[in-house]
Amino acid sequence: MKYLDEFRNPQHARQLLKAIRQRATRCWRIMDVCGGQTHNLLRNGIEQSLEGVIELIHGPGCPVCVTPAEVIDQAIELAGQPGICLMTFADMLRVPGTKTSLQAARAHGHQVRMSYSPLDAVKYAREHSDVDVVFLAVGFETTAPATALAVKQARQLRLNNFSLLTSHVRVLPAMRQIAFSPECCIDGFLAAGHVCTVTGYAEYAELAQQSGLPILITGFEPLDLLQGIRTAVDLLEQGQIDVINEYSRAVKEEGNPAANQLLTDVFEVVDQSWRGLGVLPASGLGLRKDWEEFDARHRYRLAMNASHSETKCRSGEVLQGRLKPGDCAEFGVRCHPGHPLGAPMVSSEGTCAAYYQYYSLRSDHRSSISE
Ligand code: SF4
Repeated sequence: MKYLDEFRNPQHARQLLKAIRQRATRCWRIMDVCGGQTHNLLRNGIEQSLEGVIELIHGPGCPVCVTPAEVIDQAIELAGQPGICLMTFADMLRVPGTKTSLQAARAHGHQVRMSYSPLDAVKYAREHSDVDVVFLAVGFETTAPATALAVKQARQLRLNNFSLLTSHVRVLPAMRQIAFSPECCIDGFLAAGHVCTVTGYAEYAELAQQSGLPILITGFEPLDLLQGIRTAVDLLEQGQIDVINEYSRAVKEEGNPAANQLLTDVFEVVDQSWRGLGVLPASGLGLRKDWEEFDARHRYRLAMNASHSETKCRSGEVLQGRLKPGDCAEFGVRCHPGHPLGAPMVSSEGTCAAYYQYYSLRSDHRSSISE
């Protein structure tokens, strides 16, 4: 197949759905790791069409959702200091910190600007030498190379009014946390294809063998997702534990060497706090000592305080696939996209937002691809 539309072909989708229904002898529980996959599974009616056949469980792959409240607090603290402009992605503005969000802080006069990329923030810093620009950089290995590129560009341009507040995370340690949790409730993973375009998937073999969970590297279009599920069902039915690349048009086993080199040049692996999951060993990317001059925590002497917010949000359980959004007492009652109580309802990749947006549409979508 050459064109995107072909990966959305309803007839082929129906054939794959039929094959999955025929092959599954029990209701396997398969976790999609990435928030983009979650949205596409629901938007295209795949989850709804497989109800009772496959239980799709949604994982921790929404970068906005996993950014801890204490990082938002630090961003707000910086944005309130004279002469500092805090820039970040649009989705981050409404994510709650311990007490408030960047959007609310902006309404109270803090300097907060939306940015499409860290390179935009470098450009803004270059054009506004009277302002200290701090870019709040979040995301998995997919977005971290752009952050690395931005800081390299800032050094090349000799910018002394640009720095980074980083909260970059790594997928594999989070998958390990879920796979080896005593409460693990899944039979296999659909791994995030876009992360694997950068990292490759050589490291996944050990996780699959140690955990006994097959891992399918999966893309984002409806046929990609259905193909990943079908192969997962095949492996599970045969009792095989393996890592299979079902996104070969984008992913190579070794990943993207240029992007990986950027990550190695700028970042080192660090322990990282995740919203709702706590600190996971070796699960983050922090700036290397060589790049300390661009580290906002170093430049502004920020301390990382543990979050003590009282919240009814159960995002930690949602992010580990232990709670369906509809089983949260706040879902659709006090928590909805217009008034989110937690990050998974804010983000365009959040599981709670996906259920809120698409669950009521499920009968329409089901008719588009199912028999
Ligand atoms: S529905 Fe709202 S309160 Fe409940 S887990 Fe999701 S984001 Fe948190």
